[in-house]
Amino acid sequence: LFVVFEGGEGAGKSTQLRALAEQLRGQGREVVVTREPGATPVGERVRSLVLENSGADAPSPRAEALLYAADRAHHVATVVRPALVRGAVVISDRYVDSSLAYQGAGRTLPVEEVSWLSSWATGGLKPDLVVLLDVDPHTGLSRVASRNQGTDRLEAESLAFHERVRYAFLDLAANDPKRYLVLDASRPAEEISALVARRVQEFLVD
Ligand code: C5P
Repeated sequence: LFVVFEGGEGAGKSTQLRALAEQLRGQGREVVVTREPGATPVGERVRSLVLENSGADAPSPRAEALLYAADRAHHVATVVRPALVRGAVVISDRYVDSSLAYQGAGRTLPVEEVSWLSSWATGGLKPDLVVLLDVDPHTGLSRVASRNQGTDRLEAESLAFHERVRYAFLDLAANDPKRYLVLDASRPAEEISALVARRVQEFLVD
């Protein structure tokens, strides 16, 4: 079972991801918690290339798309597929939809091209379920700012950029409703994790 958490900045993905992993481990399942970018040594270096070079040093949009695709190709080949083959539950913090939303809608690269690139990188591996934690960028960005994480880079992006990202995620979900669970990230964390647990459990009835 391959579950992906997606959402804008400050949506609370990490909290929810941890809660789900804990719940499934409590049932004795093998759970692999992973993320993009940066789950592997190669990915860590890609992560710093894309996230630590801002302003004039930031990679161009196409270079950025290729770097995320390289991270993803390596991540799928060395972490995700082997774990799925073993029968583990894989829970990833971001996957292909982040590229469609950030590199496609956000950076205004043609979404079909980013989609093609992602399929090539993953060999077509799709998640069974995408949990989209939907957050209004005002709220999300202020949550992140209060944690004081990477705010310089995030402030460089306009609110319009984050709005495009948000609506791109919502569009993806609307076009494939069976594969998505869209939740309002402003609801209490326990309420969200209960809904996620219930949906994931539907996949695990033996
Ligand atoms: O989810 P996390 O906060 O670790 O993501 C780090 C940053 O990487 C996010 O702020 C997001 O803007 C960016 N990102 C991106 N394109 C992706 C994945 C992440 O721009 N495909």
